Amino acid sequence: MHPIVEKIKQAGIVGAGGAGFPAHIKFNAKAEILIANGAECEPLLYKDKELMRLFSNEIKKGIELAAEAVGASRTILGIKAKNSEVISQFNGLFGGTSHEIFEMGDYYPAGDEYVLVYEATGRLIPYGGYPVNIGCVVSNVETLLNIALSDSGVPVTETFVTLNGVIKNPMTLKVPIGTPLNELINFAGGFSVIGNVASLSGGAMMGSLQTDFTRPLMKTCSGFIFLPTDHNLVRRRGESLSEMKKIGQSACDQCTYCTEFCPRYLLGYHIEPHKVMRSLGFAGEQDDFWGLHAMNCCECNLCSLYACPEDLDPKQACVRSKRNIKLKDIPYTPPPEDLTAHPMQEHRKVSTHKLTRKLGLAPYNFEAYFNDASFAPSQVSIPLLQHVGSPAEAKVSVGDSVSVGDLIGSIPDGSMGANIHASINGTVTHVDENITIKAR
Ligand code: SF4
Ligand code: SF4
Repeated sequence: MHPIVEKIKQAGIVGAGGAGFPAHIKFNAKAEILIANGAECEPLLYKDKELMRLFSNEIKKGIELAAEAVGASRTILGIKAKNSEVISQFNGLFGGTSHEIFEMGDYYPAGDEYVLVYEATGRLIPYGGYPVNIGCVVSNVETLLNIALSDSGVPVTETFVTLNGVIKNPMTLKVPIGTPLNELINFAGGFSVIGNVASLSGGAMMGSLQTDFTRPLMKTCSGFIFLPTDHNLVRRRGESLSEMKKIGQSACDQCTYCTEFCPRYLLGYHIEPHKVMRSLGFAGEQDDFWGLHAMNCCECNLCSLYACPEDLDPKQACVRSKRNIKLKDIPYTPPPEDLTAHPMQEHRKVSTHKLTRKLGLAPYNFEAYFNDASFAPSQVSIPLLQHVGSPAEAKVSVGDSVSVGDLIGSIPDGSMGANIHASINGTVTHVDENITIKAR
């Protein structure tokens, strides 16, 4: 293992922009191109933009370390052209180096790995594959910041999040991992509306509905969009599978808009959500036949929340079909033709501005600037599973005194996972699937 990758492993770094894939596994590879993903595309989230504005030196260092680890000869920072102030900063920093900046339009989902790799390099990731299959490694800018810190022995103990929507003081801030969300809500002044509020955790498009605000923040958290519970986005997240099926099978007129706007379809992949909608009217083999058209869905939600004129939920139909096919172990063979992007790919991109309006989020879209006031939770509850793989094994017991950065959970022997570190100074008060530390 390259010494940089060993430091990444010790620091417990996981992909900050997605499911939390352990970074020491991703970077233990060889690739020709390293792509830094700064193409934040979820409406109302400003975390990556603020990180790039404030920590550009560290991100540049992270790019160089990551490129060295994988042996990349080319490095590209993907960033939206609208962030011109940040681009100027990086142009200054990259002067005299071979680092490239790839300016992207302001559309959704610009930050999707498949989209970013294609736009920045012209290469298409093979079916079921990863960027590394075509010589690329993609890393979110927060992960690269963490890699820069790991070089000095600093582990991951904090995460950057945006708080936006019906919150009194929208902001982006750095938070100790394990902080309960309600402490953050109080820090931001509470909600700006009277009545019940829900959160879309991770963003309005791909995030999940959260109404329990006692839950702790994890390494993969990127932001919280708070909305009244009667907002259309909250209501739609609450629809059950049986409601989706019943309404979908009777109201879908097969207009194909969901397919025509699907970013994976436009890249040339075999995915046709309007055909997946046909599966809702069947059981058995017919259900499976139409369901196979969902296999390359990335669950971006554009079909359900933007394209469908009937407000149906082809994304949920795709999720259902993918799950059924996996459960039944039905083989899927992608079409044999070479992958080629659709001729309309460039012209059917959905602008974030139009998307924000369509989602009913325009009244809640506040520039959530970084707040550098120190935030100190009274206690944290740090999950031992914040990543893809096995939970970390607890290395502390109730009553132990810990300091920020101490190893409190380690990767079990022979498993995929990530180390976990204390995020505040204090005393361990509880150990189960989470480690609770009370501040001293
Ligand atoms: S969620 Fe819809 S638009 Fe997105 S990839 Fe899946 S089918 Fe395509
Ligand atoms: S856009 Fe809506 S109505 Fe049209 S085919 Fe897709 S799910 Fe059916």
